[in-house]
Amino acid sequence: MTLEERIQEVNQRIEEACRRSGRSAADVNIVAVTKYVSQSMTAKVLDSGLKHLGENRWQNAEDKWNALGDRGIWHFIGHLQTNKVKDVIGKFEYVHSLDRLSLAKELEKAAAAKDLVIKTFLQVNISGEDTKYGLAPEEAASFLRDIQGLTHIKVIGLMTMAPFEDEAEDTRRVFRGLRELKDALNHQGITREPLTELSMGMSNDFEVAIEEGATWIRLGSVLVGKEEEE
Ligand SMILES: *Cc1c(COP(=O)(O)O)cnc(C)c1O
Repeated sequence: MTLEERIQEVNQRIEEACRRSGRSAADVNIVAVTKYVSQSMTAKVLDSGLKHLGENRWQNAEDKWNALGDRGIWHFIGHLQTNKVKDVIGKFEYVHSLDRLSLAKELEKAAAAKDLVIKTFLQVNISGEDTKYGLAPEEAASFLRDIQGLTHIKVIGLMTMAPFEDEAEDTRRVFRGLRELKDALNHQGITREPLTELSMGMSNDFEVAIEEGATWIRLGSVLVGKEEEE
């Protein structure tokens, strides 16, 4: 399949998931995850009209960003080491993986130095798997309280990763759990503004995530492909 065909098919599946759940496709944003592909493929993704690009390692993103930085809106979706914050700040508009206080403090310092506000998602480990990063759900409220004073970080929502399941339906409880946590945190009114965003759903499970309220889906293989397929 060509990139255009994959985009068309994904858009159709998004629309169907929205129809099933009474949502508008306009409320579901795609982050095209380019971590598996080259700079030239990333350029094609931008040519196709997709603007939001996701990368999970600065080392892999650096050349693409240097060549194409101005053309896209960049999302850092991987685990972020504090010593890499300086590379990311000012280049990536969104960080999906805020998961600890030391990282929040480092982001605050770097963003303040550049006089900008970085948009972040709190990464939460809803599934409870040992192998997954993220705060435990019950830690989220106190974490948000701890970072209330950090004015160069704007937490716009929550992010999670579901376990890989053969049946996508089996991921539903994870996505529902993230949505319920967002609602509960908003009810407590901890953040300056309500959390509006849910970053959840990948190639294997994005339709279920949309049905449960995803506003950002992060799509690699199903959309951008993997380089060996090109
Ligand atoms: C790689 C990655 C994705 C995309 O994975 P696919 O299954 O290829 O869609 C999404 N989110 C994160 C955090 C990733 O690391």
